[in-house]
Amino acid sequence: MKDAETGDDKVNGIHETPMLDELEGGPWPSFVTGLKRLRDSKDKKYAPMMNDLLGQLEHSYEERLGFWKGGTLSVLGYGGGIIPRFSEVAKDYPASKEFHTLRVMPPAGNHYNTDILRQLCDIWEEHGSGLIAFHGQSGDIMFQGCTSEAAQPAFDAFNEIGFDLGGAGPALRTAMSCVGHARCEQSCFDGVRAHRGIINRLLDEMHRPAMPYKFKFKFSGCGNDCVNAIHRADFAVIGTWRDDIKIKQDKVKEHIAEVGRKYTIDTVVNMCPTRAISLNDDDTLEIDNKSCVRCMHCINVMTKALSPGDDRGASIMIGGKRSLKVGDLMGTMIIPFMKLETDEDFEKLEEFAEECMEFFADNALEHERIGECIDRIGVPAFLEAMNIPADPNMVNHPRTSSYVRTDDFNEEAAKYFERKAREAGMTVAADD
Ligand code: SF4
Repeated sequence: MKDAETGDDKVNGIHETPMLDELEGGPWPSFVTGLKRLRDSKDKKYAPMMNDLLGQLEHSYEERLGFWKGGTLSVLGYGGGIIPRFSEVAKDYPASKEFHTLRVMPPAGNHYNTDILRQLCDIWEEHGSGLIAFHGQSGDIMFQGCTSEAAQPAFDAFNEIGFDLGGAGPALRTAMSCVGHARCEQSCFDGVRAHRGIINRLLDEMHRPAMPYKFKFKFSGCGNDCVNAIHRADFAVIGTWRDDIKIKQDKVKEHIAEVGRKYTIDTVVNMCPTRAISLNDDDTLEIDNKSCVRCMHCINVMTKALSPGDDRGASIMIGGKRSLKVGDLMGTMIIPFMKLETDEDFEKLEEFAEECMEFFADNALEHERIGECIDRIGVPAFLEAMNIPADPNMVNHPRTSSYVRTDDFNEEAAKYFERKAREAGMTVAADD
């Protein structure tokens, strides 16, 4: 806060920050404490930058205005990946007049080891402010606070240890995948492989922004959707299975013996969104797999007794995003099930991803996400453009749609599978 007479807000060279100090109270860790820690560490050459940063932030709180403006800054050969920030009050806070952020792509599944984390920290202490956010809302590692001059050497150092800039602007954005196969027993496909394959294939679209707007891929190993793919990704790949849930009846009995029958009914049977579960008198569980919508709830509660089936793969939903012109959108089911096991399967997924981006580049209006584009032209037009036959599994809430008759479901399903088999020139069982 500035002294009314002198116009100075510093005591012993440190900006006073009474309003920011308030944010250090309460039970949660405060970013203000983190900024002060960096400011007060004497051996850091960027301590003056953090001091002026805090001063400018306090000034912003007083004025209720942000004082950062954007600009253009990149490294050789790239058109995006750095968020430039130039101070509009650089006269008063000269040490933080440039405070750019480098967006760096994390490894698929966020698998780091401590050695690589130390190397990342060392690079940023050498070239930047030392301030790092793991991970920003975009999924990137956000290396915050460097000067224009330091951007290229910082990028070169990250590149040297195998890291690359992520996306920014109207481009393919940094993708995210859950921890996946390596550490999660529910994962239904190798999300890390799918993530890496798609991003490597489409990398040019990330570094040279030329799309109508942003395009994000996210990969979740199962319906728990730990990376929020369905409502945050233009292209969501979510693991699922198409055979029956696996039940270990002895573990069901153990679970019931441990938590009680009533508790099991209250937390598992009654919580199934499609009432697909029933509990027998002898404490065994039955699941009507045709009605199961693979929501994962029962599996999450009874992890030892229940698990996804063996015929695993992924569903692909297109068009999820947070609010823009047409409000929040969940992804629309476009590929209900895709097997993802062999090299050919992954190649097929990558090809489909590429086609989707081509469709987006050719058909979306400026500043329009693919979900909004589909909303404008209609799902049938999108399916036709992508050469995908309509599938009853794409119907949202079939039980509440007056166009879907559920009394003759099995009969209709049999006709559908017959038709599908004819189209594919092969025979499949009706309940595949
Ligand atoms: Fe019901 Fe969900 Fe379990 Fe399927 S996964 S049986 S829909 S609770």
